[in-house]
Amino acid sequence: MRQETEELAEIRRAVRSLCDDFPGEYWRAKDSAREYPGEFVDALTRAGFLAALIPADFGGSGLSLDAACVIMEEIQASGCNGGAAHAQMYIMNTLLRYGSAAQKSEYLPKIANGELRLQAFGVSEPTSGTDTLSLKTRAVQDGDEYVINGQKIWTSRAEHSDLMLLLARTTPREQVEKKTEGLSMFLVEMQEVVGNGMEIKPIRTMMNHSSCEVFFDDMRIPASALVGEEGKGFRYILSGMNAERILIAAECIGDAKWFIDQAKSYAGDRTVFSRPIGQNQGIQFPIAREKTVRSPA
Ligand SMILES: Cc1cc2nc3c(=O)[nH]c(=O)nc-3n(C[C@H](O)[C@H](O)[C@H](O)COP(=O)(O)OP(=O)(O)OC[C@H]3O[C@@H](n4cnc5c(N)ncnc54)[C@H](O)[C@@H]3O)c2cc1C
Repeated sequence: MRQETEELAEIRRAVRSLCDDFPGEYWRAKDSAREYPGEFVDALTRAGFLAALIPADFGGSGLSLDAACVIMEEIQASGCNGGAAHAQMYIMNTLLRYGSAAQKSEYLPKIANGELRLQAFGVSEPTSGTDTLSLKTRAVQDGDEYVINGQKIWTSRAEHSDLMLLLARTTPREQVEKKTEGLSMFLVEMQEVVGNGMEIKPIRTMMNHSSCEVFFDDMRIPASALVGEEGKGFRYILSGMNAERILIAAECIGDAKWFIDQAKSYAGDRTVFSRPIGQNQGIQFPIAREKTVRSPA
């Protein structure tokens, strides 16, 4: 197994120390009140963890994807919920790779210092889930603006974000040469359009993930909100998804560590037939198997 560098080990310790301030009671209270864990997200932002992937020139820490993975893994391994903020890490990739110089200098420093949250990612629609190329939300250019009509669903954190990366169709599907063309990516300043073309409706779900439906009704945004080239949005989204999958896999490893620790501790504490249940091999073996397979380090 690869030896972890001292820099990554130090990041792990720092994240763990921040997470110590957000114990189980905090998360249970947030969950039962269906509230967004704003204090936790603000603490991560203040400590610079959510700006890990923003280059130092734009006020971030300019760290590697490895370091970002360590941050997300450690958040989950501490029993906290990185899902409240993880999109900021992986959506960032699209802005970093395809955003114009003007977009990067306008938004990245403000995201890095916490002035703006980039937490909303508008891709999924009710009639096109996995089949992104069938999405129906339309963006039509009108002078120096785009006019957007349509609907998104499962847009996490839409109520708690200042910016949304939005995927919409700019060329009808029957008019494109390749079916992967004709979708475009926009960076939407949400405070300008909420109640003015954009309506957000929270969806009540079993888990407290701030899921929303977002409706666009003649929503006007400046043409400068286009990210990269018109028609290439699907390609941009696919390349961004690599970082998303790697970061979420790191969160899953953190979750495995947390649940194994919880199981181990409960097996030591819970006494039945006058002895801890952890003395039974039927309890020991599954925990040991998960420990060796899922979280060997
Ligand atoms: C916690 C959570 C947060 C989310 N946050 C966001 C967000 O912030 N922004 C956003 O845009 N979306 C978000 N989503 C939506 C998510 O990206 C979609 O759920 C996903 O794209 C799948 O779409 P769907 O749910 O409509 O499933 P469907 O497309 O209906 O698919 C249902 C099942 O059928 C399978 N399936 C479909 N077609 C095939 C096929 N041809 N072959 C084999 N299997 C197939 C799929 O793999 C899946 O298992 C979130 C979802 C969750 C669970």
